[in-house]
Amino acid sequence: MGKALLRGLLLTLRHFFRKAETIPYPEVKRPVPERFRGRPVLISGADGKALCVACGLCERICPSLCISVIPETGSDGVRRLQSYRLDLNRCSFCGLCVEACPVAAIRMGRDYELAAYRKEELIMKTEELQKETCRRTSAGPGRG
Ligand code: SF4
Ligand code: SF4
Repeated sequence: MGKALLRGLLLTLRHFFRKAETIPYPEVKRPVPERFRGRPVLISGADGKALCVACGLCERICPSLCISVIPETGSDGVRRLQSYRLDLNRCSFCGLCVEACPVAAIRMGRDYELAAYRKEELIMKTEELQKETCRRTSAGPGRG
């Protein structure tokens, strides 16, 4: 009993002088690994518009059926993106949409802070998908 107690105290003492392994999240965040797959992000061109040409390949390949691409044809006869919708509630972060895109207009981002109080918050439209991180607009239950 006394020996076990001493061993326990020694262990505590050893860890007492070690560098802390914990970080004060969310103020400090650990960098994610290079190949980490966060939520999909639509890539924008220099003009700020999405590079997506609305071919619909990502929509067809997505195993979770969470992408919806609506194309439009401009007055110049060029097909372009009218709206892109991605339901993150269903996304499995497989990355197939990225693999399928012929113009590299979508990539897996690094955002992992995806918790939401309502599932509607995780249905993302074009503009939101062009941002690197999700922006929560609503406070959760019990919050100001
Ligand atoms: S990462 Fe996979 S599940 Fe998510 S939108 Fe892309 S293809 Fe669909
Ligand atoms: S595959 Fe690429 S270009 Fe085609 S709809 Fe998806 S994001 Fe847009």
